[in-house]
Amino acid sequence: MLQLKHCVVDFMSCVIGNGDDASFCYDSWKDLGPLISFVGDNGPRQLQIHLDAHIVHASQNGMWRMPAARSEEAQALQIALSTITPPSVDRGRDQYLWRNDSGTYVNVFSSKVIWELIRSCSPQVSWDKIVWFKEPVPSHSFITWLAMLSRLPTKDRLRRWGLNGAPECVLCSGGLETHMHLFFECQFSSAIWNCFASSFWPNAPLDLVSIVAWISQNQVNHRSGPAIIIWIILQALVYIL
Ligand SMILES: [Zn+2]
Repeated sequence: MLQLKHCVVDFMSCVIGNGDDASFCYDSWKDLGPLISFVGDNGPRQLQIHLDAHIVHASQNGMWRMPAARSEEAQALQIALSTITPPSVDRGRDQYLWRNDSGTYVNVFSSKVIWELIRSCSPQVSWDKIVWFKEPVPSHSFITWLAMLSRLPTKDRLRRWGLNGAPECVLCSGGLETHMHLFFECQFSSAIWNCFASSFWPNAPLDLVSIVAWISQNQVNHRSGPAIIIWIILQALVYIL
Protein backbone atom coordinates (compact mmCIF):
# COMPACT_ATOMS: atom_id res chain seq x y z
CA MET A 1 0.00 0.00 0.00
CA LEU A 2 2.79 2.37 0.93
CA GLN A 3 4.60 1.52 -2.29
CA LEU A 4 1.47 2.32 -4.25
CA LYS A 5 1.08 5.64 -2.52
CA HIS A 6 4.71 6.55 -3.16
CA CYS A 7 4.35 5.57 -6.78
CA VAL A 8 1.27 7.69 -7.27
CA VAL A 9 2.39 10.77 -5.43
CA ASP A 10 5.54 11.09 -7.55
CA PHE A 11 3.23 12.26 -10.30
CA MET A 12 1.02 14.40 -8.16
CA SER A 13 1.60 17.55 -6.21
CA CYS A 14 -0.71 19.15 -3.72
CA VAL A 15 -1.29 22.87 -3.29
CA ILE A 16 -2.24 23.45 0.31
CA GLY A 17 -5.58 25.05 0.97
CA ASN A 18 -7.28 24.34 4.25
CA GLY A 19 -5.15 21.20 4.80
CA ASP A 20 -8.18 18.96 5.36
CA ASP A 21 -7.65 16.66 2.38
CA ALA A 22 -3.91 16.31 1.83
CA SER A 23 -1.95 13.69 3.75
CA PHE A 24 0.91 15.12 5.78
CA CYS A 25 3.14 12.07 5.33
CA TYR A 26 2.22 10.64 1.95
CA ASP A 27 1.15 13.46 -0.36
CA SER A 28 3.73 15.45 -2.23
CA TRP A 29 2.84 18.94 -1.11
CA LYS A 30 6.28 20.51 -1.06
CA ASP A 31 9.69 20.31 -2.76
CA LEU A 32 10.83 17.52 -0.44
CA GLY A 33 8.31 15.12 -1.96
CA PRO A 34 6.31 12.78 0.27
CA LEU A 35 7.57 13.46 3.78
CA ILE A 36 7.52 9.79 4.75
CA SER A 37 10.31 9.30 2.22
CA PHE A 38 12.24 12.28 3.53
CA VAL A 39 12.01 11.79 7.28
CA GLY A 40 11.87 7.99 7.25
CA ASP A 41 9.59 5.61 9.09
CA ASN A 42 10.49 7.08 12.48
CA GLY A 43 9.85 10.62 11.28
CA PRO A 44 6.12 10.80 12.07
CA ARG A 45 6.76 9.61 15.65
CA GLN A 46 9.51 12.19 16.15
CA LEU A 47 7.26 14.86 14.70
CA GLN A 48 4.36 13.62 16.84
CA ILE A 49 2.24 13.31 13.72
CA HIS A 50 0.10 10.27 13.05
CA LEU A 51 0.81 8.44 9.78
CA ASP A 52 -2.72 9.12 8.58
CA ALA A 53 -2.75 12.75 9.68
CA HIS A 54 -3.75 15.49 7.28
CA ILE A 55 -1.74 18.65 6.86
CA VAL A 56 -4.20 20.60 8.98
CA HIS A 57 -3.18 18.45 11.96
CA ALA A 58 0.37 19.82 11.76
CA SER A 59 -0.76 23.40 12.27
CA GLN A 60 -2.49 25.36 14.97
CA ASN A 61 -3.73 28.95 15.04
CA GLY A 62 -2.11 29.72 11.70
CA MET A 63 1.30 28.34 12.76
CA TRP A 64 3.10 25.09 12.10
CA ARG A 65 2.94 22.85 15.16
CA MET A 66 6.23 20.98 15.41
CA PRO A 67 8.13 19.61 18.44
CA ALA A 68 11.85 20.30 18.91
CA ALA A 69 13.82 18.62 16.10
CA ARG A 70 15.62 15.43 17.16
CA SER A 71 17.24 14.54 13.86
CA GLU A 72 18.83 16.28 10.91
CA GLU A 73 15.86 15.31 8.76
CA ALA A 74 13.40 16.77 11.23
CA GLN A 75 15.46 19.95 11.43
CA ALA A 76 15.62 20.24 7.65
CA LEU A 77 11.89 19.69 7.49
CA GLN A 78 11.18 22.43 9.99
CA ILE A 79 13.41 24.82 8.06
CA ALA A 80 11.52 23.93 4.89
CA LEU A 81 8.16 24.37 6.62
CA SER A 82 9.17 27.84 7.73
CA THR A 83 9.06 28.88 4.06
CA ILE A 84 5.55 27.51 3.53
CA THR A 85 2.37 29.22 4.56
CA PRO A 86 0.39 26.94 6.93
CA PRO A 87 -3.08 25.80 5.86
CA SER A 88 -5.97 28.17 6.28
CA VAL A 89 -9.73 27.83 5.85
CA ASP A 90 -9.65 31.03 3.78
CA ARG A 91 -7.77 29.24 0.97
CA GLY A 92 -10.40 26.66 0.21
CA ARG A 93 -9.78 22.97 -0.27
CA ASP A 94 -6.41 21.43 -1.03
CA GLN A 95 -5.81 21.11 -4.76
CA TYR A 96 -4.06 18.21 -6.48
CA LEU A 97 -2.00 18.80 -9.61
CA TRP A 98 -0.61 16.30 -12.10
CA ARG A 99 2.86 16.27 -13.53
CA ASN A 100 3.05 16.97 -17.27
CA ASP A 101 5.68 16.05 -19.84
CA SER A 102 7.73 19.18 -19.13
CA GLY A 103 8.01 18.30 -15.43
CA THR A 104 5.71 21.02 -14.15
CA TYR A 105 2.40 20.38 -12.42
CA VAL A 106 -0.97 21.20 -13.95
CA ASN A 107 -4.57 20.55 -12.96
CA VAL A 108 -5.29 18.48 -16.06
CA PHE A 109 -4.75 14.73 -15.89
CA SER A 110 -3.33 12.99 -18.96
CA SER A 111 -3.04 9.21 -18.88
CA LYS A 112 -0.75 9.44 -21.91
CA VAL A 113 1.70 11.74 -20.15
CA ILE A 114 1.74 9.61 -17.00
CA TRP A 115 2.22 6.44 -19.06
CA GLU A 116 5.14 8.01 -20.90
CA LEU A 117 6.67 9.02 -17.56
CA ILE A 118 6.43 5.60 -15.91
CA ARG A 119 7.14 3.21 -18.77
CA SER A 120 10.56 1.95 -19.75
CA CYS A 121 11.23 2.74 -23.38
CA SER A 122 12.97 0.11 -25.48
CA PRO A 123 14.78 1.08 -28.67
CA GLN A 124 12.34 1.47 -31.53
CA VAL A 125 12.35 -1.45 -33.94
CA SER A 126 12.21 -1.08 -37.71
CA TRP A 127 9.15 -3.28 -38.05
CA ASP A 128 6.76 -1.66 -35.61
CA LYS A 129 4.57 -0.11 -38.31
CA ILE A 130 4.24 -3.49 -40.02
CA VAL A 131 2.83 -5.00 -36.87
CA TRP A 132 0.87 -2.11 -35.41
CA PHE A 133 -1.24 -0.04 -37.76
CA LYS A 134 -4.85 1.06 -37.94
CA GLU A 135 -6.41 -1.45 -40.30
CA PRO A 136 -5.41 -4.94 -39.14
CA VAL A 137 -7.19 -7.58 -37.08
CA PRO A 138 -5.91 -7.05 -33.51
CA SER A 139 -5.39 -10.77 -32.83
CA HIS A 140 -3.32 -11.05 -36.03
CA SER A 141 -1.18 -8.11 -35.00
CA PHE A 142 -0.62 -9.61 -31.58
CA ILE A 143 0.50 -12.98 -32.92
CA THR A 144 2.72 -11.31 -35.52
CA TRP A 145 4.28 -9.25 -32.77
CA LEU A 146 5.06 -12.42 -30.80
CA ALA A 147 6.46 -14.05 -33.94
CA MET A 148 8.76 -11.09 -34.58
CA LEU A 149 10.06 -11.41 -31.02
CA SER A 150 10.32 -15.24 -31.35
CA ARG A 151 8.00 -15.65 -28.40
CA LEU A 152 5.42 -18.05 -29.81
CA PRO A 153 5.22 -21.46 -28.09
CA THR A 154 6.91 -23.34 -30.91
CA LYS A 155 8.07 -26.88 -30.23
CA ASP A 156 11.71 -25.92 -29.82
CA ARG A 157 10.73 -23.54 -27.05
CA LEU A 158 8.30 -25.99 -25.44
CA ARG A 159 11.09 -28.58 -25.26
CA ARG A 160 13.41 -26.02 -23.67
CA TRP A 161 10.73 -25.49 -21.05
CA GLY A 162 10.86 -29.23 -20.27
CA LEU A 163 7.80 -30.44 -22.19
CA ASN A 164 8.17 -33.71 -24.03
CA GLY A 165 7.03 -34.21 -27.57
CA ALA A 166 8.32 -34.70 -31.06
CA PRO A 167 10.30 -31.67 -32.20
CA GLU A 168 9.31 -31.97 -35.85
CA CYS A 169 7.11 -29.44 -37.56
CA VAL A 170 3.49 -30.61 -37.60
CA LEU A 171 2.96 -29.02 -41.01
CA CYS A 172 5.67 -30.83 -42.97
CA SER A 173 7.43 -33.21 -40.55
CA GLY A 174 10.57 -32.21 -42.41
CA GLY A 175 12.29 -29.91 -39.98
CA LEU A 176 12.45 -28.76 -36.39
CA GLU A 177 9.57 -26.52 -35.46
CA THR A 178 11.20 -23.18 -34.84
CA HIS A 179 10.13 -19.63 -35.65
CA MET A 180 12.56 -19.57 -38.56
CA HIS A 181 11.14 -22.82 -39.90
CA LEU A 182 7.49 -21.86 -39.57
CA PHE A 183 7.99 -18.41 -41.15
CA PHE A 184 8.68 -19.50 -43.90
CA GLU A 185 11.32 -22.19 -44.42
CA CYS A 186 8.69 -24.88 -44.03
CA GLN A 187 7.54 -26.39 -47.32
CA PHE A 188 3.92 -26.06 -46.33
CA SER A 189 4.00 -22.50 -45.06
CA SER A 190 6.33 -21.26 -47.83
CA ALA A 191 3.93 -22.65 -50.44
CA ILE A 192 1.08 -20.69 -48.88
CA TRP A 193 3.18 -17.54 -48.59
CA ASN A 194 4.35 -17.82 -52.20
CA CYS A 195 0.81 -18.39 -53.38
CA PHE A 196 -0.18 -14.97 -52.07
CA ALA A 197 3.11 -13.11 -52.36
CA SER A 198 3.93 -14.10 -55.94
CA SER A 199 0.97 -12.13 -57.28
CA PHE A 200 2.53 -8.85 -56.22
CA TRP A 201 6.10 -9.74 -55.30
CA PRO A 202 8.29 -11.96 -57.56
CA ASN A 203 10.91 -13.98 -55.69
CA ALA A 204 9.66 -12.94 -52.28
CA PRO A 205 12.05 -13.89 -49.44
CA LEU A 206 11.17 -16.83 -47.25
CA ASP A 207 12.07 -15.56 -43.82
CA LEU A 208 9.95 -13.26 -41.74
CA VAL A 209 12.68 -10.80 -40.84
CA SER A 210 13.62 -10.25 -44.49
CA ILE A 211 10.00 -9.94 -45.50
CA VAL A 212 9.30 -7.31 -42.90
CA ALA A 213 12.56 -5.51 -43.67
CA TRP A 214 11.63 -5.35 -47.33
CA ILE A 215 8.17 -4.05 -46.60
CA SER A 216 9.61 -1.50 -44.20
CA GLN A 217 12.15 -0.21 -46.70
CA ASN A 218 9.85 -0.11 -49.68
CA GLN A 219 6.35 0.47 -48.51
CA VAL A 220 6.16 1.64 -44.95
CA ASN A 221 5.94 5.25 -46.11
CA HIS A 222 3.59 4.42 -48.89
CA ARG A 223 0.31 3.65 -47.20
CA SER A 224 -1.50 2.76 -50.37
CA GLY A 225 -4.21 0.11 -50.52
CA PRO A 226 -1.91 -2.60 -51.98
CA ALA A 227 0.74 -1.95 -49.33
CA ILE A 228 -1.75 -2.36 -46.52
CA ILE A 229 -3.14 -5.49 -48.16
CA ILE A 230 0.38 -7.00 -48.09
CA TRP A 231 0.65 -6.25 -44.40
CA ILE A 232 -2.77 -7.74 -43.71
CA ILE A 233 -2.05 -10.89 -45.75
CA LEU A 234 1.28 -11.40 -43.98
CA GLN A 235 -0.30 -11.03 -40.55
CA ALA A 236 -3.17 -13.35 -41.43
CA LEU A 237 -0.74 -16.03 -42.61
CA VAL A 238 1.39 -15.76 -39.51
CA TYR A 239 -1.72 -15.97 -37.37
CA ILE A 240 -3.20 -18.98 -39.18
CA LEU A 241 0.08 -20.89 -39.34
ZN1 LIG B 1 7.43 -27.48 -41.57
